[in-house]
Amino acid sequence: MSERFDTEVLVVGGGPAGYVAAIRAAQYDLDVTLVEMHALGGTCLNRGCIPSKALLSAANVAHDARTGSQMGISADVDVDFQRMVEWKDDVVGNMNRSVEKLCKANRVSLVNGRAAFEDEHSARIEGPNGESERLTFEYAVVATGSRPIELPGFEFHRPEVLDAKGALALDELPDSLVVVGAGYIGMELSTLFAKLGVEVTVVEALDSMMPAFSPDLVAPVASAASELGIETNYGELASECHPTDRGVAVTTEDVDSGDRREYEADAVLVAVGRTPVTDTIDLGRIGIEPDEDGFVRTDEYGRTAVDHVFAVGDVAGEPMLAHAGATEGEIAAAEIAGRDSSAVDRAIPAVAFTSPEIATVGLTEAEAEETDHAVSVGEFPMRASGRALTIGHTEGFVRLVCGDGGVVLGGQVVGPEASELISEITLAVEAGLSAGELAESIHPHPTLSESIEEAAANEQDLAIHTLNR
Ligand code: FAD
Ligand code: NAD
Repeated sequence: MSERFDTEVLVVGGGPAGYVAAIRAAQYDLDVTLVEMHALGGTCLNRGCIPSKALLSAANVAHDARTGSQMGISADVDVDFQRMVEWKDDVVGNMNRSVEKLCKANRVSLVNGRAAFEDEHSARIEGPNGESERLTFEYAVVATGSRPIELPGFEFHRPEVLDAKGALALDELPDSLVVVGAGYIGMELSTLFAKLGVEVTVVEALDSMMPAFSPDLVAPVASAASELGIETNYGELASECHPTDRGVAVTTEDVDSGDRREYEADAVLVAVGRTPVTDTIDLGRIGIEPDEDGFVRTDEYGRTAVDHVFAVGDVAGEPMLAHAGATEGEIAAAEIAGRDSSAVDRAIPAVAFTSPEIATVGLTEAEAEETDHAVSVGEFPMRASGRALTIGHTEGFVRLVCGDGGVVLGGQVVGPEASELISEITLAVEAGLSAGELAESIHPHPTLSESIEEAAANEQDLAIHTLNR
């Protein structure tokens, strides 16, 4: 390391993008300092992916037990929500400690505090007790993440207004909840709370839920939501709310007519998107200006307008997903270390952990048709899967989108374990495998993964357990 600097790589932010960048850079024998102002693991581990999926799993257990009569199971399910929350907190605490151990084992120096740039090669770090130190660095990685968008009139400091963090930190179940926004967070948390018996009313500005996914993927989720008793109201903008004796009254305006409606509940959860965090770190001091959407612009290696400063994760743009950020962290670390990082054109899967789950990767059929003239599709409905029948979840389908020579360009899965199934399609896209090769690969029986083999065979008009198209 050059003697001029206190550390070779300063990583600011200990979420999945930052801690992965730090560990990978240390694995490449760089001297690394990771500064985190709250808790290691960032949004994902402390108030996002992990607590939401822990509570969703617990809610699924309760729901499955309540609805198992078809399998001959009847149960009087008692949910001890405080115990459930303790279990979720244990999961999070365990993982916090693991991330800390992994950082230390990889010789990453950990600093608890807020880092802000002073100039192109130094940052000031303010500790939790007001202490402050200056740290010089050769390279920096900005991984400051994102925070929820606050709607005017729905300030998160108000006790009756929750963001995802607040909803995941409740120690008592509300009787009823209004959810503003039917995107990823709105629908995952609506599912979770509805399965725990909360009366959920969703208000969404657009004319359907989950705008990131195509309507045929969303349809099974919409009908399952309705079966769970989730009331969905589309084409309505949440405009204001006020506290009531019961909790809160939320006013919406119809996007076409302007007609106003009011919904009452114990609390309102606002999930209308997330915005990058660039105001904690004094980017202006080193001449980096966020773009019009607030993101720090980078090239495909994560390099910003300042050559030795990188940005990764949510702060560096869409998709704001943990695995995308972690991959960007790995790529930036490799670039700093002068290693090969094969950054270009990686297939990034996206998953909504709704009921049923939705998962996508690569191109849709319409997207493929824009560039490839030999597009073909293979599909398999979950209701034809022996495994889906044995677990009692037959909703949804697998679709493979193929180009010239049957090469897999993308895929969409809606149904049980879609979050797991998508990885095989991601591998196929990444490795340039064809539907023929997927169909020839032997999948164990009875498993949901056979649906991918069958969809691949269907692309070749050779499906066995469904009629060919
Ligand atoms: P973050 O995880 O936000 O971490 C940034 C860190 O930087 C924070 O810990 C913050 O304290 C710290 N920081 C900021 N400024 C400074 C500073 N100046 N000095 C020191 N530290 C600083 N994604 C998925 O892929 N799958 C999911 O299932 C999923 N579920 C989600 C559920 C919810 C409810 C939410 C809210 C998000 C979910 N996400 C999910 C998104 C995922 O959490 C983010 O994409 C991911 O956390 C981004 O990682 P990051 O490292 O870029 O930022
Ligand atoms: P989102 O962008 O997924 O959905 C926001 C929704 O709010 C949209 O449908 C939008 O039309 C609606 N909306 C906006 N303003 C409104 C208003 N005034 N009234 C009514 N509706 C309104 O955002 P999110 O759910 O907050 O999630 C943020 C990000 O977090 C996601 O984009 C994703 O990157 C990440 N995330 C990922 C996962 C996952 O990977 N499983 C889970 C949760 C969050």
